Amino acid sequence: MHRFNLDPLIPEYVKHFEAYIPSKPDAELMRLYGVDHLYRLNNNENPLGPPPEARDILRNTPPLKASLYPSGDCHYLRHGLADKFDLEPDQILVGNGANEVIAFVIKAFCQEGDNIITADKTFAVYEWVAEFSGYEARLVPLKDFCFDDEGMLERIDERTKILFVCNPNNPTGTYWSEGKLRHFLDRIDGRQIVVVDEAYFEFVERPDYPNGISLIPEYPNLVVFRTFSKMHGLAGLRIGYLAGSLEVVNVVRRTCVVYSVNALAQAAAQAALGDDEHMLRTRELVREGKDFLRRELAALGLESVIGEGNFVMVRLPMSDTMAYRKLMSRGVMVRSMTGFRFPNWIRVSLHQPEAMSALIEALHHVLRDAS
Ligand SMILES: *Cc1c(COP(=O)(O)O)cnc(C)c1O
Repeated sequence: MHRFNLDPLIPEYVKHFEAYIPSKPDAELMRLYGVDHLYRLNNNENPLGPPPEARDILRNTPPLKASLYPSGDCHYLRHGLADKFDLEPDQILVGNGANEVIAFVIKAFCQEGDNIITADKTFAVYEWVAEFSGYEARLVPLKDFCFDDEGMLERIDERTKILFVCNPNNPTGTYWSEGKLRHFLDRIDGRQIVVVDEAYFEFVERPDYPNGISLIPEYPNLVVFRTFSKMHGLAGLRIGYLAGSLEVVNVVRRTCVVYSVNALAQAAAQAALGDDEHMLRTRELVREGKDFLRRELAALGLESVIGEGNFVMVRLPMSDTMAYRKLMSRGVMVRSMTGFRFPNWIRVSLHQPEAMSALIEALHHVLRDAS
């Protein structure tokens, strides 16, 4: 074997970073835990799946299409989104999941010595992409489970490029009202890029919840993320997007890898856009799930945080990683939250009644075994 000295090739910030270990495929997990069924309550997926129009696309796409490169810039989908949101198509960039557009924005604006600001207990990908790219991620503690606007403003310095706000926040379900978001953007006054991640936008029914995209004409430094993974039930196809002012998007576009979004995802996403009925049915399912869990968790004596989005947090009188294993052995997969810096909490996605009952039943056993 050739001599190979890997160490000097690795940047310091990569050396100190640990790889994220995704969970095993369902079939492996079921074998491991000895169960013949698994309720997936760990990833905030839509249990109703994609809407009928998107299903038709998936069923009717000719296999030959797989041999052709897709539209490199998601031409038709961007036009469809632009029509829907009253933007220009060039104000939108589509990525391989909203996850990819996070990297686009960080790459476009950060250089050595720069920092980004976000919360300590939120979707971790903003922090991870910044850190494994060599930039500082300044994490501001949540306040009453909510993003702390004043705390974030205080951490800004001359090297701050981007502030990430998850609205509503995954995992706490708290949100900033339109007034609060506007006040924050007014205080930033165009000095930094403000990203508002609206991955759960379509689930929120509060009248004071802002539509970030409608604020873009007023705030050219605002970038909004949305995804087809949650409400639209297309997580497996990996497709999400960002919207912003032409000025900002024209810069971000320079760091995009074209062809990262496959043809099937583009077509299915476009078909999913118009389906309001599927959204209404999903919201109803989520609402019923929350009502059921609020009641049943209280009956079990468990503290919960039930906010916006299609998930809730539950505090357990034991380690969340142990609870995860015990729930798995009863066929219920939840998200253990030590990774979100919420030890002893789990996050549960809202699902059909059968799955919600299975969760409560499994929790009942776990609590009994623990006492
Ligand atoms: C799920 C999620 C995303 C990423 O979605 P993908 O489009 O599947 O990459 C982004 N932000 C938040 C807050 C999420 O929960």
